[in-house]
This record gives sequence, C-alpha cells and structure tokens, in this order.
Amino acid sequence: MEKLRYERPIINKIKAGVPDKYGMQPKIPVKSEIDGIPVKEIVEKYGSPVFVISEKTLRETFQKANRAFQSRYPKVQFAWSYKTNYLDAVCRLYHDEGSWAEVVSGFEYDKALSNGVPGNKIIFNGPDKTDEDLKKAIENGSFIHVDHFDELYSLIRISQNTTPKAKVAIRVNMDTGIYPKWDRFGFNYENGEAWNAINRIMLAENLELVGLHTHIGTYMMTANAYAVAASKLAELAVRTNKKFNHSIKYIDMGGGFASKNTLKGAYLPGKDTCPSFDDYADAITSALINSEIAPDQLPTLFLETGRALIDDAGYLIGSVLANKRLSNARRAKILDIGVNILFTSFWYEHEVYPAQESSQQTEDTTLYGPLCMNIDVIRESIQFPTLKKGDLVVIPRVGAYNMTQWMQFITYRPNVVLIDQNKKMHLIRKQESLKVFKEQELVPEFLLNEKPLKA
Ligand SMILES: *Cc1c(COP(=O)(O)O)cnc(C)c1O
Repeated sequence: MEKLRYERPIINKIKAGVPDKYGMQPKIPVKSEIDGIPVKEIVEKYGSPVFVISEKTLRETFQKANRAFQSRYPKVQFAWSYKTNYLDAVCRLYHDEGSWAEVVSGFEYDKALSNGVPGNKIIFNGPDKTDEDLKKAIENGSFIHVDHFDELYSLIRISQNTTPKAKVAIRVNMDTGIYPKWDRFGFNYENGEAWNAINRIMLAENLELVGLHTHIGTYMMTANAYAVAASKLAELAVRTNKKFNHSIKYIDMGGGFASKNTLKGAYLPGKDTCPSFDDYADAITSALINSEIAPDQLPTLFLETGRALIDDAGYLIGSVLANKRLSNARRAKILDIGVNILFTSFWYEHEVYPAQESSQQTEDTTLYGPLCMNIDVIRESIQFPTLKKGDLVVIPRVGAYNMTQWMQFITYRPNVVLIDQNKKMHLIRKQESLKVFKEQELVPEFLLNEKPLKA
C-alpha cells in the first residue's frame, strides 16, 4: 500500500460554505479538457508542462476580428505580427486565413519567406534593419516601414543600386491621449518630424511613399486612442495629396488591442474591461471615413493585431510539484510552470484552473514556479483549492508573447501541441534537449582533456 502523505495540521478560517452578502461562493471551475481532449491525455502524450494551441479558437477569433473591420470599411488587410507568436504552424494558420506577415527583424523576415509568404505581402517594421535586410526587402517588393532618419538615408543610398523602386511607409508616433507616450519608434507627428520625413521620401527618386503606419502601444484599454491616431494619419495623407498630388495607398494602424487577460493591479477582470473588436473597428473606420480623404481615394486599412488574436487560443498545462506552508502558515504550491516559460505572469494575474475535480474549499495561496529564483511567482495570491502532488492545472490565455519571449533557464522549453479542428493533436515544437544546446556550444581545444576534473 502507498504511504499516505502527511501534512502538519494548522487551524485556518474556512472561507467556503457559509454564504456572505453576495450569496454562496461560486463553485470552483474545473478545466478538464481543451477542445474535447482530456488534459490528462495531453500530458500523458506530451509531458508536463506543455503549451496547447487551439486551431478552432485561433480561427474563430481571427474571423471575428476580420468581420468587425470588413463590415465597416471597404478595404481591410490583416498582417500577422510574427513576434507575438512565430511558431510556423501558428503563422501558417493566419496566412491560411488571408493574413500577410508583419515582421520586425531579419530573422522574422526570413521566417515569413520560409512560410511561403510572397515578399510583396510582408510588412517590414522595426528600428534594426541591416543594409542587407533593406536590399532584400526592396528586391522582394516588401513594404518597408522607416523608423528613423538614419534608416531613411540608408534606404536612399541603397535604392540607387537596386530595382524596383523601394516601397516605403513611415512609422509615425503621436499624442493619442495615452501616457506615457510611445515616442521612441518612428517620426513624431506633433513636432513636424513625420511631415519632414514624408517630404524627403517624396523627393527621393527611387523611393515610393505607399503608406503611413503607427503602432500606438500594446494592451490599449481605450478604442478612442485609435480614433485620434487614425485622424492624424489621415491628415498627413491629405496634406501629402495636396502638396504632391500623390495618394497614399494604405494606412496601417498597427496592433495593440487588449486581450481579455487581467493586468496586475486592475480593479476589474480584463474580460469586463477590454474593448471588443467592434469597438476598435468603429473608432478606426469612423475616423478614416469621416476624414478629409476623398471617398474614391480611401486607403486600404492594414492591421497588425497580435495579442488580441492569439491570446485566447493558447493554454499552458502544468502540474503540482509540491504543497507547502510558508513560515507564516500561508498556503503555497510549487508548479512546474516557471516565469521562464510564462513570461506574461509579470504583467497579468493569470487565471489558473484545476484540471480535475477538487475540494470546494479554497485558501489564499501563492503559486510558485520551479526555478531557483525568488522572482519565480506565477500568482502572488489566488483563492485556490488544495491539489495533490501530480494534479494538473490549466492556465488559459497564454498564446501571445510567451512562446517567443520564453527563456531557456536551467531546463528545457516544453513541447507545444496544436489541437486541430478535428480534435487531432499535432506536435508543433519539440521540447528542447541537451543536444540542442551542445550543438550551439564550442569547447576550446585546451579544455578538451579526457579527465577534466583535477585529481
Ligand atoms: C508588437 C507589434 C505589433 C503587435 O502588437 P500586439 O500588441 O501584439 O497587438 C504590431 N505592430 C508592431 C509594429 C509591433 O511592434
């Protein structure tokens, strides 16, 4: 017989059972399956922890966003923000939905090409484009979004020896009523820099000004900021048309829509406070349609939404490693999910659900990760039932940024699994192994002795 686990008893005020003035405590929700597949089965096959992507949720969310804009504006084009999640399978699902690629580095640019995206459907953003990157982007007919004057001068120089003409847009930053302002990327609207950049591009023989771009921030909780930004870009388009008789082909509103996760310190859950795709679409399209741009010259509206499209489609499954009492008798649990793979736990109060029926009694609990680091806290404080060692938990809404910003620290990054619409599981990124790291490392000859440990 297996020996039962013993924990020293403590006296604790019970918070479940007795109704308070809001009624009974809600039942603890259990998340025992994802898209019809038992969580237990996923872990048996792919281990713990493991990331899961739902094709169904990914596509449904995209279609909802696309519908919100298509129904309000004649020409809309989404471009998938690679840095939000650049697993090839994920990118290809968005491309299959009609999304172009939005990239911010040479690495991402090459990844988009390798996923079969034609050069003329890649938007190239970011402050760090090498001369080779720029040359390649010009030759492939990609849209180059200029970030600063040094990049503009490089482009003018490089474009003298390349064909075809470089298709360029400028990134514009501006006061949208949101502070602190994001003014480190692109050219400022208010101080005239953006207008200056436009004039220089219009005079450069081998550059064609095709668009105006902005990305006003991330997790924007108010749609109105987008209305302000769209009006300012529209004003620049009108002014360009007046002076140069040149019409701007597209206005790119970037990304930044909030997902339903709850920010740390927020008073209400994100589900209740974040604007819907319809709210954002209404603000942006109203500003463009009501601007001074002539109706027959309305630019295509580009969107680079990342977080709000993918967050809901991602789950992280983990297991309980240990139960603990802290020195003040506070309940703590150690999970096999650390901040190295759940980077967003620095910003969000992630929801965490048991994956199997558990006791209805909850206790204020701290959830720690497995790293030997004090900052490895997944939730500082959560009302949580007591789970046993080995019990599984599910963290929803982790699709954005975690699978690109994750860090390799003292252990391997885990498997990522896609559940397709026919409830079939596919491994889309393998857990790392010692081999992966050995391949990257070199040991100098003089350290390659057979017996490295001195006697
Ligand atoms: C990061 C980024 C995006 C995506 O932002 P989200 O907040 O994930 O929607 C879009 N455009 C640019 C230029 C970015 O840097």
